[in-house]
Parts: sequence; structure tokens; C-alpha cells
Amino acid sequence: MDKYVCDVCGYVYDPEVGDPDNGIEPGTAFADLPEEWVCPLCGVGKDNFSAE
Ligand SMILES: [Zn+2]
Repeated sequence: MDKYVCDVCGYVYDPEVGDPDNGIEPGTAFADLPEEWVCPLCGVGKDNFSAE
């Protein structure tokens, strides 16, 4: 699974880690994140992420 980088702040979403603080379990692909998921650092939506 691909990592995705926030274009705004540089946060990297790693599918192997997920985003446990926001209810995203490890092993969740970026494409499977809920549409309402936002960058945990700066709060922008998925549209602002690019594949690493
Ligand atoms: Zn961000």
C-alpha cells in the first residue's frame, strides 16, 4: 500500500500505521479512509494529499 503526503504540511499517511488517534486502524489503505477524514496535523481533506 502506498504512503500519501499532505501537500500543505508534509504529514505522511502510512497505511501500515493508520491514524489510531482518529479511529483509523493500522492496515487501512489511503483510498479506504472515510471521505471526512482530515490531516491530523493541519486539518485539510484527502484532496490535498499526493502519493509519495
Ligand atoms: Zn497536513
